Amino acid sequence: MAELRDGAAAIAGELAELRRAIHREPELGLDLPLTQKKVLAALDGLPLEIRQGESLSSVTAVLRGARPGATVLLRGDMDALPVAERTGLPYASRIDGVMHACGHDLHTAMLAGAARVLCARRGDLAGNVVFMFQPGEEGAGGAAAMIAEGVLDAAGDRPVAAFGLHVTSSLLPAGMFSTRAGTMMAAADTLEVTVRGRGGHGSQPHRAADPVPAACEIVTALQTLVTRKFDIFDPVVITVGSFHAGTASNVIPDEARLSATVRSFSPAARARVQEESLRLVGEVASAHGLSATAEFADPFPMTVNDAAETAFAETAVTGLFGGGRFVTTPFPVAGSEDFSLVLERVPGSFVFLGATPPGADPATAPFNHSAEAVFDDAVLADGVTLLAELAWRRCSSAG
Ligand SMILES: [Zn+2]
Ligand SMILES: [Zn+2]
Repeated sequence: MAELRDGAAAIAGELAELRRAIHREPELGLDLPLTQKKVLAALDGLPLEIRQGESLSSVTAVLRGARPGATVLLRGDMDALPVAERTGLPYASRIDGVMHACGHDLHTAMLAGAARVLCARRGDLAGNVVFMFQPGEEGAGGAAAMIAEGVLDAAGDRPVAAFGLHVTSSLLPAGMFSTRAGTMMAAADTLEVTVRGRGGHGSQPHRAADPVPAACEIVTALQTLVTRKFDIFDPVVITVGSFHAGTASNVIPDEARLSATVRSFSPAARARVQEESLRLVGEVASAHGLSATAEFADPFPMTVNDAAETAFAETAVTGLFGGGRFVTTPFPVAGSEDFSLVLERVPGSFVFLGATPPGADPATAPFNHSAEAVFDDAVLADGVTLLAELAWRRCSSAG
């Protein structure tokens, strides 16, 4: 709808200011008081029902259209990362060791912008829009907490569809939208392993039970598990990112600990990689006469896009911006997202939006989570337009 696009263009400057203000003061995890305050200020005076979270600094805003219709949920995450920014931007982080390196500052500004432009059309809106401003996406469980506090029922009836946007600082040229039906992002689970032996003097290993070689064997055996037990067309990734044992070169420790991120793209592969890796850890340890405990923690399910809602989102992009602005994501992305928890309960679509800065090559520019990642806020207005359009059309098209 042209009015939504014009509305977004008219506030583009203010949205860039909001985004930069959030970028200057990034916050981590579930408690983002400064960010929450900026969001509340941006929504001030709008015809919204606003609720702040109890166990986290979320903001849930409900817009009730003047006419009856369906409810649609739009989500933007608000948290930053423990990264020391090295972009040199004039609006770079002023908080030591914390940076909006995943572009969630843009998501927050875009969601506030969508609320602004949809509120301006409230008189013609048939249905309700729930705006989900979410802390704690980067592993802190923000989506789960907001669901527990009732975000999905904020408008009274369940949303018929849910949409979220994620910007990228490379890979996609600025302004390019991309998504795919089905599995969009991986499931991520953390494997925690402790191998237990018996410590002793490093010169007399036969009198001790050394957990270090067994733990090393577990690391390499996990890599072999990936290549020998899984279909290359339904792959898994296991990365042991943390390995700790011992205090000195001449002391055999009592135990060795390691933890791995385990990514998968289908429920079957996810179940099997968990079962097989737990068995492997136990059996490698016992082959050396040791014991081990292993468990999976911090589950993030797969982000699965509904086929119909994804086709709807593609049509909206090409209708608004032309066919040259959409590319189908060829393969699922091995990153993970806790918007997956919303999409498990409400059909919807998660869409990437390129925000590669001007003059940078999308093939080589630093990617999300890099200390040098730069996101171009010229894409804000188009992101707002798409979010608003998706909500507008989906509210009134639902039977
Ligand atoms: Zn991230
Ligand atoms: Zn992110």
